[in-house]
Amino acid sequence: MPIRRTLRGSARTPLDGEHDVLICGASFAGLAVARELAGSGARVLVLDRYEIGERQTSACGIPTAWLRELGLMGAHRQTFGRLVVHTPHGTSVLDLPWTFSTFDYPELCRLLWEQTDAVFETAKVEGRSGNTVHTDRGDLTAPLVVDALGWRRMLAGRKHPARPGARDSVSGYQPPDAPLSRGLEVHPWGAGDELEIWIDRRYVPAGYGWSFPASDEVRVGVGSFDPRFHVKDTTVLLAEDTGRDPVRYQGNWIPHKLRAATDDGIFFVGDSAGHCLPLTAEGIRTALYFGIACGRELRAVVEGRQPAAAALVRYGDFSAAHEWKFRWMLETQHLVPRVPPRLLNLALKGIRTRRFVDWSFKHYLAIAPPEFARASPQPAVRRGAPVRAAA
Ligand SMILES: Cc1cc2nc3c(=O)[nH]c(=O)nc-3n(C[C@H](O)[C@H](O)[C@H](O)COP(=O)(O)OP(=O)(O)OC[C@H]3O[C@@H](n4cnc5c(N)ncnc54)[C@H](O)[C@@H]3O)c2cc1C
Repeated sequence: MPIRRTLRGSARTPLDGEHDVLICGASFAGLAVARELAGSGARVLVLDRYEIGERQTSACGIPTAWLRELGLMGAHRQTFGRLVVHTPHGTSVLDLPWTFSTFDYPELCRLLWEQTDAVFETAKVEGRSGNTVHTDRGDLTAPLVVDALGWRRMLAGRKHPARPGARDSVSGYQPPDAPLSRGLEVHPWGAGDELEIWIDRRYVPAGYGWSFPASDEVRVGVGSFDPRFHVKDTTVLLAEDTGRDPVRYQGNWIPHKLRAATDDGIFFVGDSAGHCLPLTAEGIRTALYFGIACGRELRAVVEGRQPAAAALVRYGDFSAAHEWKFRWMLETQHLVPRVPPRLLNLALKGIRTRRFVDWSFKHYLAIAPPEFARASPQPAVRRGAPVRAAA
């Protein structure tokens, strides 16, 4: 049984108070926004249904430079300089021009949180009316509201049928019809030296399997670009094929299409804006990258350097400027499963030349480059447990 630390019963007092920025979602995207507001003087409230870092949302693999730039190496677990790609017809080893690392989710969230001066509360977000967010602990209003709640995009959505003027949590995006991938992994204890992926129809007709070692555990999973393909059985199969125990499951839907990053006065960041890269399902560094971009615009508002309307336009345009890269990756995502496996193996052998790998992986990193974090104002570092707003 997982241990639930989230507040229960009488501890769930109603929430109130005045806030300048309300950030819904305390994972990669939400924490990156809050970090960017540190020291601005803004009263920032961060909400999540779970405690910060309580529920891991990914295999936690990221370009190492992103950990370094954000001062998060304390959460680092293991670094890889090469990627091993298995197909049914052979294995190719790609020497990467930059390294990729796995990290510990609770520790990374804790370190990010320490770089904010926001207040945190556990609450389940249920919808909104204008700039008022409805939660299971009451309604909260702020002039600036961020949806960093993941693929459900809770704060968008159609008008609430029973509540005039309110919006419910249905965003019109429901699996399996929506452009969502399906990801599931197991976390057995154990060790490994290689970052491995499998492009093999035995595991998934369109997508890939992975094994990401992280010091004392290995994250083995399968992601399907086709939301109708159930990945449970083949996740177990891949775990067994690699000699791992299929234990401690973690899975979710993963968006693979960019969506408007602002809508009806709300800022959407990370998976809620479809910021996950469609070809690889890499969504952590993009959640951090767009979170930083959003936080910078919000900071300019709270410091009186621009009106909220300008922030909405500037952040929306910033996200939309990446559209062609996301579209290109989505087209490649559609193409790869159509390539016959034998040909794919030959293609992989052909592209593993140093020059091509360097060129393609450098371009791939440049979609959300780690240097982007560098221009951030010096984060206000604090120590200790999350601060609560209401007694
Ligand atoms: C199996 C799997 C493995 C993956 N591995 C990787 C990987 O190795 N590298 C990588 O880059 N990407 C990976 N991804 C993708 C990555 O997990 C996401 O793109 C990333 O987590 C997006 O970050 P986010 O902050 O936008 O959303 P999330 O991390 O999903 O966070 C959303 C937050 O909102 C909270 N929340 C949701 N609904 C409510 C509500 N109603 N009320 C209150 N709080 C709520 C949640 O508790 C959560 O804390 C993986 C995904 C899956 C499914």
